Amino acid sequence: MIKQTDKIELSWRGNAPVSSKFDDVYYSEENGLEETEFVFLKGIGAPDCWQNKDSFVIAETGFGTGLNFLVTYRDWISSGAKGQLTFISVEKYPLTAGLLREAHKSFPEIREYSKELCSLWPPASEGIHERIFRNGKVRLLLVFGDASTAFSEVHASVDAWFLDGFAPAKNPEMWTDDLFNQIDRLSHSRTSFATFTAAGFVKRALAAKGFNVKKTPGYGRKRERLVGLRSEEYVTSSPCKRETRNPEWASIPTPNITTSTIVIGAGIAGSCIARELNSIGHNVTLVSSNEPAGSDVPAAILSPGFQRSDQPAARFATACFIHACGFPYYNNAWAGERGVRLSTTEEAEKARLQQIADKFSWGSEWLIPEDDGYFLPKSGSLHPATALLKLQKGIKHIKSEVSQVKYVNNQWHVTADNEVLTADNVVVACAMESDLLLPDSLGLDLRPKPGQIEVINAAAKNMPQGNHAYGGYVTAAIENPSSNHFRTIGSTFEVQPENGREWPLATQENRMANLSTLEENTGSAPLPQEIIASWAGLRATTPDYMPYVGPVPDWIKAAEQFKKLAKDRKLRGLGPMPYQKGLYLMTGFGAKGFQQAPLCASYIAALIDNRPLPIATSLIPYLHPARHMIKSIVRGTSL
Ligand code: SAM
Repeated sequence: MIKQTDKIELSWRGNAPVSSKFDDVYYSEENGLEETEFVFLKGIGAPDCWQNKDSFVIAETGFGTGLNFLVTYRDWISSGAKGQLTFISVEKYPLTAGLLREAHKSFPEIREYSKELCSLWPPASEGIHERIFRNGKVRLLLVFGDASTAFSEVHASVDAWFLDGFAPAKNPEMWTDDLFNQIDRLSHSRTSFATFTAAGFVKRALAAKGFNVKKTPGYGRKRERLVGLRSEEYVTSSPCKRETRNPEWASIPTPNITTSTIVIGAGIAGSCIARELNSIGHNVTLVSSNEPAGSDVPAAILSPGFQRSDQPAARFATACFIHACGFPYYNNAWAGERGVRLSTTEEAEKARLQQIADKFSWGSEWLIPEDDGYFLPKSGSLHPATALLKLQKGIKHIKSEVSQVKYVNNQWHVTADNEVLTADNVVVACAMESDLLLPDSLGLDLRPKPGQIEVINAAAKNMPQGNHAYGGYVTAAIENPSSNHFRTIGSTFEVQPENGREWPLATQENRMANLSTLEENTGSAPLPQEIIASWAGLRATTPDYMPYVGPVPDWIKAAEQFKKLAKDRKLRGLGPMPYQKGLYLMTGFGAKGFQQAPLCASYIAALIDNRPLPIATSLIPYLHPARHMIKSIVRGTSL
């Protein structure tokens, strides 16, 4: 966990920021921008090394002020590169957006890029933060944490390394065997590297990992620096060459080159994944029925259930929230007033919220502690219809009921009404209908949870200001161009109805429940004539409240292959999960679709596109569609 004491203070040596902790400069006192160009970009042979590549991955130790990233981003755009750039950078002591701005002030050449980065700067929360620039042409994966631990959570094939980080003599804790093992694991047979240092042990460690290391002149006052290329003959002996500590059943599928995808379901999950794939040039078709859907909700508030623990579910919820707050496709869908206040009248809950605020210590750009809770300035409420429209723009959308999904002659066949559509991949993202479309699925456990929301006139008096969550919630005014401005009060969570998946009807009882939760927690009560309507819908949930997101197994083969886990759940050597090639699932988001779908869609798109994953690999088993099947095998319960 990044601690408050990990936060860094800057002083200045001439034009260069200095870390007081390490007593070293972030970039050269002579000219940081020139240093980046010379040491790192020239060092890896840019721009030639990335021209004509569909995808290029750079990984860096020590994001610092982000100068290396910004100059690379600028050069990537100006070189007219056709593909996508992913820049992965680890950072143990993240600066704040304010300090980044200060550190970039001396470089007007990168002003516009700096502005983009600072507006999307995440809080100092351990884990991976994906930031998307230029419609996905450039992606930044910021990994906050200690370098080697942070890289151990990364799945990527790195084309070039920027080995920055303070000088080895001043920061020996970073330049460890663990780090070189991670460099080994993440490199391929022609990976290059560049570093400002010429330290002998760095040279030897890289040579031991198969790099042909060359000493070349350094920048400014530095006499020498190292550059190099991996030798094609090198065979790793690294202890961490095996992917991760994840169980074998949660293995990452072998990538295929594919160009077409059918996405079933046009709610927030389907729309996010369709947009992601469209942005990388996939031929995407969205197919959805005209049935009512959870994403038709009148407003969606991003109200994260932060937890004090570092359990996977807590890490996942936090990562999704941070991602959604900076998701570019939400830009014009936010209610006018940004920020969500979380508060409570219960003493124990108040203490819990305060402990979370203390533990996170994200700074006032992201989390402001208050007497009875906290305020999240970057959060807000969305107008779902506006967000969906933007996500679906320009994407082929067929309104049909899908009755069958079948793999025939190396292609997926999707029967939609009387038409058979074909594609390399299918993503099933249709909430409670999802398991009906996945033939023979074992252990998928989708549970319908009805919920109701009240829609009130935005001008209703005596209501709390802005977005406010208190167990229930009230949203700020949604400025909807096609209707009167309104606010919503939500929401009920009912027990699974007897009639299973039937779409629920709004009831007076649920309306009273929503209004009394509001009144108990905020003292507010809208007049009856200010209530415009009630909305009721069905959410798809799972037993552990984590969505099913990932590649879909060949259920029958998988059950056979992993049946020995019944005797010993830690048994290894059973091999990787057999998957149905090109079939993916995204469902079970409950009431958190608008919060969780953007990051999950990026994860699925990354699997399909074989690009670095935007989530920590240790989260994969907790999202995996086979997790309940494996649990049943281990417990010996029937599938
Ligand atoms: N590349 C940076 C830039 O463009 O501004 C400069 C990097 S600065 C010289 C070194 C960075 O490495 C600092 O931000 C520091 O906090 C980070 N760092 C130091 N030790 C680390 C560790 N063990 N793990 C991750 N980051 C570390």
